[in-house]
Amino acid sequence: YAPLAETDPEVQNIIDKETWRQYSGLELIASENLTSRAAIEANGSILTNKYSEGLPGARYYGGNEYVDELENLCRKRALQAFNLDPVKWGVNVQPYSGSTANFAALTALIQPQDRLMGLGLPDGGHLTHGYYTAKKKMTASSIYFQSFPYGLDPSTQLIDYGALAQQAKIFKPRLIICGASAYPRDWDYAALKATCEKEGAYLMADIAHTSGLIAAQQLNNPFDYCDVVTTTTHKTLRGPRAGLIFFRKDGPNQDLEKRVNEAVFPACQGGPHNNTIAAVATALLQASQPEFKEYARQVIANAKTLASGLLEHGYKLQTGGTDNHLVLWDLRPLGLTGSKVEKVCDLLGITINKNAVSGDASAQTPGGIRLGTSALTSRNMMEDDIKVVAGFLHRVIQLSIVLQKEAGSKMLKDFVRVATTESEGKVGAQLV
Ligand code: PLP
Repeated sequence: YAPLAETDPEVQNIIDKETWRQYSGLELIASENLTSRAAIEANGSILTNKYSEGLPGARYYGGNEYVDELENLCRKRALQAFNLDPVKWGVNVQPYSGSTANFAALTALIQPQDRLMGLGLPDGGHLTHGYYTAKKKMTASSIYFQSFPYGLDPSTQLIDYGALAQQAKIFKPRLIICGASAYPRDWDYAALKATCEKEGAYLMADIAHTSGLIAAQQLNNPFDYCDVVTTTTHKTLRGPRAGLIFFRKDGPNQDLEKRVNEAVFPACQGGPHNNTIAAVATALLQASQPEFKEYARQVIANAKTLASGLLEHGYKLQTGGTDNHLVLWDLRPLGLTGSKVEKVCDLLGITINKNAVSGDASAQTPGGIRLGTSALTSRNMMEDDIKVVAGFLHRVIQLSIVLQKEAGSKMLKDFVRVATTESEGKVGAQLV
């Protein structure tokens, strides 16, 4: 029972280095956040020892008295966090992550080879929303279902709800998925619901990115229109890595509870990860507090400040700004790729990710980067701090342009050498 540092100093050392990286650098990845110490404690607890296939009160293993109590608490808190009436909505808290939650939701809602529509990956959609390429069906959502992507209006880079309705009329999907990984604007759930009603399709929202902002009532509410809502718990919701599936229980949807629960177990998963469920419960408690509402409001205020800071420097942003926690920066007018800028940022202790922007030929060599303010806001950064961050990013771009010109030169090699020999993150100071 010796502590980790004694039992396995090698792993402890890696954790220490990663801790330093996370706290010394600027974390701007839109899908990441810094979960609380309390949630981390719950996640690292002895609950990891327990098997509990099934649902509270109906398990395939003994000894689940406390685990039942925990899962019921987590379910109650999930409904409370999103202000949902337990008569009308239920939730399954067992999905291991967002991708498994989505596949279980598809399994519950439609039959193999049924048709679905989701936002295309190059336009900001997620892999699990039916993504495939001309060469290959890449994801389970396109291998086991027939999918057709809807997209953005090229002139505004906003979802083209009119075109979507026209495509749905022809394609006749059984399911339309809304929600995205890289879409800086809010969704018109009413328009999507109208299309679904016309075509006899289910409407599912994957709010993985924005669930914290939705729980805090800072964005439109998908629960007013959708049959099923899935989310990860580790992005704006600020919990551990896991997934949730909410399903309607009222009206024509009375059988969804059984279908969703059976799709999670036994169709797609085995025993729930009870340590994770405990951490999700803790995060949901936190997300129900007034301070979380303030946090979510600040996340958006910070993203808007970041967007206007970059626009002031003359840069091009997809849709020209943001309604949520993320900013999509189109680097193509600068002659830079997302991968180059991501690498330069890495060397400077600034963590971002390359991302496709509307019109990119390929998601593999994208022309943009995606920035998010959830993690920096968790570190109590406010608008004035974010203005400084926008200034850093401006300097990163200037540097990237110079480095690109000097590719292969001594200057580039020196820069990489200096940047990588400095201790992690501190090198950011060189740009200040
Ligand atoms: N759905 C959306 C919209 C996402 O952005 C992501 C991940 O970033 C997922 C689902 C998948 O979540 P996970 O990585 O937890 O499987």
